[in-house]
Amino acid sequence: MIPFNRPCWVGNEAELIAEAFASQSIAGDGPFGKKVQTLLEKQLGIQKALLTTSCTHALEMAAMLLNLQQKDEVIVPSYGFVTTALAFVMHGAKPVFADIRPDTLNIDETKLEQLITDRTRAIVLIHYAGVGCEMDAIIEIAKQHNLVVIEDNAHGLYGKYREKYLGTFGILATQSFHETKNITCGEGGALLINETSYVERAEIIREKGTNRSQFFRGQVDKYTWIDKGSSYVMSDILAAFLYAQITQKDEIQSKRKIIWEYYNQHLQDWATQNNVCLPTIPEHCESAYHAFYLLMPSLNVRTHFIKYLKENGISAVFHYLPLHKSEMGRKLGGEQYYCPVTEDISDRLVRLPFFNDISKEELVVVIEAIQYYAV
Ligand SMILES: *Cc1c(COP(=O)(O)O)cnc(C)c1O
Repeated sequence: MIPFNRPCWVGNEAELIAEAFASQSIAGDGPFGKKVQTLLEKQLGIQKALLTTSCTHALEMAAMLLNLQQKDEVIVPSYGFVTTALAFVMHGAKPVFADIRPDTLNIDETKLEQLITDRTRAIVLIHYAGVGCEMDAIIEIAKQHNLVVIEDNAHGLYGKYREKYLGTFGILATQSFHETKNITCGEGGALLINETSYVERAEIIREKGTNRSQFFRGQVDKYTWIDKGSSYVMSDILAAFLYAQITQKDEIQSKRKIIWEYYNQHLQDWATQNNVCLPTIPEHCESAYHAFYLLMPSLNVRTHFIKYLKENGISAVFHYLPLHKSEMGRKLGGEQYYCPVTEDISDRLVRLPFFNDISKEELVVVIEAIQYYAV
């Protein structure tokens, strides 16, 4: 069976974990955690990166940093991951569901203004599959309406929009290092902060509501409880694992680019003949190559296609279900939002096996099976 995802080693993870253990410092913010944060800040050119236990927790930190009041609204894409919306709902927001563009499957910037009310506080977006949202327009809208932009950049690490790294546009951005992501430590995440005024409170929220980070830097002589928060710091064992991967991000990203281009090139003719659409990357975007997907002509065809691939030893999977129509989304009033593109894409999208170490032989098997399939 060719799996949809296979977690990949770069090779020296175990050695670095042993090193972390030998240093007798395996809790959070140890030597490896600090090295990873500094490296991320340098690579992306950002103010501050804080490693967290997950992207979901980084999103919750972002929600807490907004200081949401009752009835405050946060705009999220309906075609999104559950916790992209849930993290804000957990901290009091009413989610407002936006539809997506039919080409990049990113939040549709032309439909944002009609969703903004005097209770709107933030726009949360996902750079789907690693391709940037229309950030020029989104930042302009946010400025006009005094909204915070938060990038859920779980797919987009090292992708670019107009030569600038994804994750550096919003005041806050979040990363995931879950095993399904380009760079991983099993479970983990990060909060990226692009505005200095948010740093101090973010550190407190991440350290159980205490000023422990300031204490360790010698800025205060004792630490105490000063705000809300939780336990969001990543263990240095995981940070050591992550350091191995993040120092090899160029190798990882170039492997993924090759896989993406292989699929794209070899499926072009078949897609045209069978009324299937391949992904769109606009000229001004540099993808992070998180996923490769096909848009099938209908739900029926997709169901049949996934079954056919499975019978041929290939695991292909669909993706998000519309959040505004989910059980929880409906409880939160989601059905008042009109997201026809989300509903259509959700039925037709299928993702092909995509992981750093997929072999040429495996790719050939996938391509041949698909080429043999007539819609
Ligand atoms: C994976 C993912 C998350 C959740 O990441 P965790 O680290 O598992 O919490 C959130 N948003 C998007 C877009 C994701 O792909």
